[in-house]
Amino acid sequence: MSLHSVRPKILGFISEDVSAWLVALLVLLFGCVLTGLLAWSTLNLYQQQLRQRFQLLASERYSRIEERFEDQEQRLDGLKRFFINSGAVSRQDFDGYTQPLLHRTQAYAWAPRVSGTERASFERMAQEQGAPDYFIADLNAEGRLQRAVERDEYIPVLYSQTQSPLGSPLGFDLLAQPMRRDTLERARLRGGVAVSQPVRLVGVEPSYARGIILASPVSLRADVAMSTPEPYGYVIAVISMRQLVVDGLPEQSQDNLFVQIIDLSTAESYGKLYESSNGPGDSPLAVSRVLSLADHDYQVNIRPSALFLQANHSSVSSQVILGTLLSLLLSALLYVLVSQRQRALRLVEQRTEELRVREQELRGTHGQLRSVLNAATQVAIIATDLRGVISTFNAGAERMLGYKSAEVVGHLTLESLHLPAELNVRAQALSQRYGRQIPMCQAMLVDGSEESGDETREWTLVRHDGSHLVVNMLATPVLDDHGLWVGHLAICIDITERKRVHEALAARDRLLKKLSAHVPGGIYQFQVDVQGHASFPYVSDGIRDIYEIEPQQLQLDAEPVFERIHPGDVARVRTSIWTSAKRLSPWREEYRVQLPQRGLRWVRGEATPERLAGGGVLWHGYLSDISDLKRVEEELRALSVTDSLTGIHNRRYFQERLQTEMARVERGVGNLAVIMLDIDHFKRINDQHGHAIGDMVLRGVCERISLRLRRTDVFCRLGGEEFMVLCPDTDGRQAYVLAEELWRGLRSSPIDGVGVVTASFGIASWREHEGADGLLLRADSGVYAAKQAGRDRVEAEMV
Ligand code: GH3
Ligand code: MG
Ligand code: MG
Repeated sequence: MSLHSVRPKILGFISEDVSAWLVALLVLLFGCVLTGLLAWSTLNLYQQQLRQRFQLLASERYSRIEERFEDQEQRLDGLKRFFINSGAVSRQDFDGYTQPLLHRTQAYAWAPRVSGTERASFERMAQEQGAPDYFIADLNAEGRLQRAVERDEYIPVLYSQTQSPLGSPLGFDLLAQPMRRDTLERARLRGGVAVSQPVRLVGVEPSYARGIILASPVSLRADVAMSTPEPYGYVIAVISMRQLVVDGLPEQSQDNLFVQIIDLSTAESYGKLYESSNGPGDSPLAVSRVLSLADHDYQVNIRPSALFLQANHSSVSSQVILGTLLSLLLSALLYVLVSQRQRALRLVEQRTEELRVREQELRGTHGQLRSVLNAATQVAIIATDLRGVISTFNAGAERMLGYKSAEVVGHLTLESLHLPAELNVRAQALSQRYGRQIPMCQAMLVDGSEESGDETREWTLVRHDGSHLVVNMLATPVLDDHGLWVGHLAICIDITERKRVHEALAARDRLLKKLSAHVPGGIYQFQVDVQGHASFPYVSDGIRDIYEIEPQQLQLDAEPVFERIHPGDVARVRTSIWTSAKRLSPWREEYRVQLPQRGLRWVRGEATPERLAGGGVLWHGYLSDISDLKRVEEELRALSVTDSLTGIHNRRYFQERLQTEMARVERGVGNLAVIMLDIDHFKRINDQHGHAIGDMVLRGVCERISLRLRRTDVFCRLGGEEFMVLCPDTDGRQAYVLAEELWRGLRSSPIDGVGVVTASFGIASWREHEGADGLLLRADSGVYAAKQAGRDRVEAEMV
């Protein structure tokens, strides 16, 4: 199954192949649309709630104003009935009644009707009743009270109860003002409460001065039943609109509503009775109702104030900002998520591919390893886990131990393949060595290499059939990639055959040693490698007698042997070795050695060379001391060339030397002459003195001749009583002189019992192209000629 088919989608729905930018853009768009919808519905809800809230507030406010208007009308009506029912009302009565009513009413007043004629008495009466400065007054141009002009009728304020700190406008004639007069007139005509047009109140704080005046006519009790009784005065309520509307409400700047009251009964602009100072907010919301008070209709307009709008501020903009921010955040998050996920997936794919390649390599390597393990049929390879349980048992192990791999792997331990007794001995030895208990199952694994210097160790394993197998085992720990110990690996080599061969070789070595010990001389192997370095890989003990050198000294370097060889022979020996190596011909040499203890000795060496694989040459040979043989040889040699009677050289030696000397002179080196002599009448001596005396004479002649010869001259007896002197580097004349000397010496030295013995001398010197025979013949001829001439003389050399 491919990786793509099982790959989950991002967040369950985003395909991983799509661009991260596209996802982010789509999410941003979706977020913005969602935010817009949410904002739209929120705005709707907000407007609905705002409207409801405003209507609730407006209704409450309207009800409150309506209620207060009605309350004012009822209270004035109550005051009126108080006057009607009381008959005569004193100032105290009035104050007592109206004091508690001064609530949302600026002032109450009682203004009786006074005719022009009664003015003075009325003012006097009023002054007597507790208002000393009382007089009927008008308002002058500055708005101050001044004595009223003369009129037919006055309706001055007599009693007044007011909240204003400015005091009551006592004495103010209500008829002096057209608007107030009109109100009183309407009240009289209606027989009930009439409302003035909006007026500026007198004696009231300026900010509260805008208001209305309610007037109700008071008739005598007796006249009440009449349809339009003539009032004798009026009860007045002065109402400050601001006080009426805002009383009990928070400050106008804190008010949620903007209230406007317009007097509909007044056509002119002055009809605006009240307007909140806080101003209307920017909103289409508005409520407008009509309210009746006495004979006037008022339109109450209520709109939300800026505070209301502010307090009920819409959260749409913040929602939009928040929604947009959230969308941006989400899209950024998704961009990061998708791109990271895509990056991670690409990485995973890359790693997976790498892993797959590595897995294939590993599988290949594993297969190769398995093949190698099984191909190693001459080696048992056994792997175990940490408990010692066998996990690998190769073909070599099967062959050597007779178990099948399936029987062993997971079932047997390495310990179970060992000979218990051997393990036990080893475990005890290791325990003693390391000072702690080493169990038997670890005895074959504990490193004991330092004691023998060898990592391998010989063990006896038990085969499946119970027979024993001696192996060399190398046990090593197996570490995983992290260097953790995961098991052991034991590699065993069957050493039965090797041991047998080893023992056979050891026996042969012993035999060789014994044999060589009994053989005079030494047996050796001599080797010259490609660099020309010589050594003796093997020498028997006999070599010690031959060279007086210890055998070990020669194993690496043969030079000590050459140092022992006589300087006169060493070059020859080296040359012959070199020749033997070159031709691979048997080497045989006899040479002298100079030994520290035994002095000069003769040695004979014989060896057969063979070419080594590396390029060198190896000789197998034998050395023997031939000093005795040499001595005998030399003795025999001396005998063979010596005349036994006289002790001088014999004819054989003469012949040899003659050949040598002839060869020399024929090469053009030096000269050569021979002197031949024959004893005169020797037969007679024998005959006269006997053969023994004849022998003595022969010896005596030789002694006398020898005395006078040069060191280089060779004196020989040719036979009987004939002698020859070989004179190297001597010409014919010199030979003649020598011969004469010999002749004289012989003649001048008689032999005891015999007397003077003489001889005849012949001379021959070397001539080119003559040859030895010719030379000898001429010498012989010389002797013959001397005999013929009478003997006892030296015959000159023949031409
Ligand atoms: P001539 O003067 O002519 O040389 O006479 P000669 O007698 O010396 O010569 P001849 O050749 O006739 O005799 C040589 C003799 O030497 C004969 C032989 O018996 C004798 N003779 C040879 N060899 C020996 C020897 O070894 N010892 C003795 N005592 N006599 C020998
Ligand atoms: Mg003779
Ligand atoms: Mg003779």
